[in-house]
Amino acid sequence: MDGVIPELVVSDVTVRFAGLVALDAVSFTVRPGSTHALIGPNGAGKSTCFNVLSGVYRATSGSVRFGDAELTASRPHQVAALGVARTFQNIALSPRLTVRDNLMLGRHRLTRSGFVSAGLRLPSARREAVRHGARVEEIAAFVGVADALPTPVGLLPYGTQKRVELARALCMEPRLLLLDEPVAGMNSEERREMADLIVSVRESLGISILLVEHDMGIVMRIADSVTVLDFGKRIADGEPDEIQRDPEVIRAYLGD
Ligand code: ADP
Ligand code: MG
Repeated sequence: MDGVIPELVVSDVTVRFAGLVALDAVSFTVRPGSTHALIGPNGAGKSTCFNVLSGVYRATSGSVRFGDAELTASRPHQVAALGVARTFQNIALSPRLTVRDNLMLGRHRLTRSGFVSAGLRLPSARREAVRHGARVEEIAAFVGVADALPTPVGLLPYGTQKRVELARALCMEPRLLLLDEPVAGMNSEERREMADLIVSVRESLGISILLVEHDMGIVMRIADSVTVLDFGKRIADGEPDEIQRDPEVIRAYLGD
């Protein structure tokens, strides 16, 4: 995989569940290296959109292109192999494993020889494990969880677990990072620190970020562009300051 960051183009994506249209012909674009926010009241379809992008749900119609690849036809491991990594609204780490092991699992798709030959202790597998271990330490330091590497994830404070989730996604060396409510449940200091971290991820890695977030202050601070959903429909799309003044957006939020 080369270092080029492709554009993500979501076109007319519709997702129907029995009797319910969760996404209704939604379109938006994430420019390479930008931070794009997807916002909207509860039930608007934000997580459904993430599930389509990561291959968990199949769209009823429409397309999602990431460069030359069609994501709506891809399964989760294929989406991951294209360099799309995600975090979940509810933490999805293995609580009994250490931070180091959770992060090593995040690198699984990148290991050529895999865990079988690592178990056989082949020299090449051992060299690869050392290389991955070094990168895991680098990423852990970058997100500020280096001290927690030997600790089982379930014993860590919630805010630290959210950082570990981000670290695990970064361990996949993504070109597009999908963050589902990265500051949910955090106190105001943790929120500010996480927002700073997301900005530095974008600045130092140059990757694209698609962010679902309820905290409007954070969205306005770190997003380059915003798409607003309400009841599965796109009601606005633009730069943060124009979105903030959009009467339909204000109505959707006040009517929430
Ligand atoms: P958001 O993340 O914006 O709060 P969701 O994408 O989770 O919204 O949900 C959008 C709508 O789709 C909601 O009405 C929700 O109940 C429904 N929904 C989401 N996932 C499923 C599913 N697997 N089966 C049926 N309905 C679902
Ligand atoms: Mg959601």
